[in-house]
Parts: sequence; C-alpha cells; structure tokens
Amino acid sequence: DQRLVDGAPQEDDLVMENLRPKTLAEYIGQDEAKANLAVFIQAARQRGEALDHVLLHGHPGLGKTTMANILASELEVGLTATSGPVLERAGDLAAILTNLRPKDVLFVDEIHRLNRVVEETLYPAMEDFHLDIVIGQGPSARTVKLDLPPFTLVGATTRAGLLTPPMRDRFGVQVRVDFYTPDQLAEIVLRSAKILGLEIEKAGAMEIAKRSRATPRVANRLLKRVRDFAQVQADGKVDRELADYALGRLGVDSHGLDRLDREMMSAIIQKFDGGPVGLGTLAASVSEEAHTLEEVYEPYLIQQGFIKRTSQGRVATKRAYDHLGLTPTMGAQK
Ligand code: ADP
Repeated sequence: DQRLVDGAPQEDDLVMENLRPKTLAEYIGQDEAKANLAVFIQAARQRGEALDHVLLHGHPGLGKTTMANILASELEVGLTATSGPVLERAGDLAAILTNLRPKDVLFVDEIHRLNRVVEETLYPAMEDFHLDIVIGQGPSARTVKLDLPPFTLVGATTRAGLLTPPMRDRFGVQVRVDFYTPDQLAEIVLRSAKILGLEIEKAGAMEIAKRSRATPRVANRLLKRVRDFAQVQADGKVDRELADYALGRLGVDSHGLDRLDREMMSAIIQKFDGGPVGLGTLAASVSEEAHTLEEVYEPYLIQQGFIKRTSQGRVATKRAYDHLGLTPTMGAQK
C-alpha cells in the first residue's frame, strides 16, 4: 500500500526524473549549504583536486540524491551511484573504486547500511586513496596495496547519528538537508509545473505546497495527481480551488495528513484516552508494524506537534484534538 505523502521513493516517481534541478542555482532552498558548497567546489576546481568527501543527511525526499548529482556536474566530473545494501562484499566496492576516473564522485545512498567489512575497506580509500587487498588464505595470505584515483565520496543517510563515528569523521564536509518551507515548496511546484507544461496559479501551487509535508518529492507527486484532476475535471488549469478539490479527493488534508495519520491520532485519542500509549500497543490497534509507525508516520506528526513522544509512550496534543474536531474528556487533556 503506497502512501501519496510518503517521502520515500516510489516506482511511479521515475517519471519525475526530468523535474530534478541540474545546477546549484536551480536547486531551491538549503541556502546556507548551497553557499558553502559553492565555495568548496570552486576551491577544489582551482586547486585541480577532488572535492573533500561530503556527507548529506536528511529525511527521504529532501533532495540528497539531487544534490549529489549537482555536485558532480558543477565539478564537471562523472558520477557513479550505488547504495549501502548493494555493496555486499569488499570486492564489489573495489570493482567500483578502481573504475572511477580521477576526481569522480562516488555516490553511496543509505551509507549507514554498509556492512562492517565493506566499511573498513572504505576507510583507507577515503583517507589516502588506496585499498588493502588480501590475497590468498591462511599463513600464505598477504596484503597488497592498490592505489586508487583520487575521488569524492558523497554519502547520504537519513540521520548522521546512524553512522559509526570513524565513518562520520572521514567526511570533511557534512551537510544537513532540512525540511522546506511552504514558500520554497511552492517555488518547486511552480518550477515543476513549468517543466510539465502545466498552467498553475500561485495560490494553487501554495495549496499543494502546504500539504506536501515539507518534502519536495511529495510536492511533485501531489502536483502530478492534481494535474490529472485539472485535465479531466476542469479546463486543465490549476487554481487554488481545483488544488483543494483534488487533494481532498486524494485524501490529503489541509495539513498534508492522510487517512493513516488521522487513524493513528484518533486511535491515541479514542482508544487510549489521549495517551500515553506504548508504541507496540498503538501499532497493534491500527494494524501496523511498530517500526513503520516510528520511521514513517511519526516524524512528521511529531515535527508538526500533533503527537508527542514521552517516556511512557505516545500522547496526542491539543493540536491533534483540534485537527480531528474532537474534545478532550475530563482528565484526559494533555
Ligand atoms: P532524496 O535523495 O533526499 O531522497 P531526491 O534528491 O531524490 O531526494 O529528491 C526527490 C525529488 O524532489 C527530486 O526528483 C527533485 O525533483 C525534487 N527536489 C528535491 N530537492 C529539490 C530542490 N531543492 N529543488 C527542487 N526540486 C527538488
């Protein structure tokens, strides 16, 4: 079951590849990070060196992969992309590293999911561009040092804290990719609409922006669906009214919450008197996995102040009651 408002990539998103900004200037928001990266890029180019290794951390859909691609293109070097879980053996990593051209970017998504052997193989590669390859087994085994072209590792992860400290320390540049403001998302929606050849009013873009959970991937996904309604049930143009109607039909409410978010909040309120309720108990009551609630639903609800995480469990806030139009019963007000 795929959720429209999930920041993680979905198969359908592939058709949005052309919406990816290609240059730093086109990349909307994250102004401080962009300004710093522009300096580092220019400095590396002037010295004729590879850019220092860059760690990008932030929630899914905020633009980490996009940024990695932009870094490579601004540096005018090639990019090879892989991900933590894909690199199963040290040999997989060695094969990729030995094929890089000097100063290329190696993008490793979900870098916190590298296994230990691969991670330790990566250390000397990052530090001074060599691999220690063990040849043979038992007493006759020996280590051969293999030189690599200088390269830039760009790692992406949801939280920097998921990385081991030695891994984290090897990134000279660490960038936190933040949630976007409604204004920035509206700008992204307007830009995407232009690429799609879709007529949209500013207020229509803002309506989509406000319901996109502060996430560009969600904004683009909602835009695509709204476009369908505009085409079939209106004159093809997206204004505020049409956006509001379409998003209502899609079950995405004024705050970007969908049915599952509302179910989770109303379970806390109606089945558990507003909480606190333990994660496992709550998960069972809405027939979901505790892990999914914690990783997928909760972060945005907590960030928006609809629920709170306490030592005794999850609690619905006044904002959740208000949003659902419910009144706290005596003694249950939080
Ligand atoms: P992540 O790697 O963090 O999951 P992506 O880089 O794949 O996220 O971004 C998801 C989509 O959102 C991209 O296809 C792109 O179209 C859009 N996007 C992300 N960041 C921006 C941005 N700063 N400006 C414009 N579009 C963006």
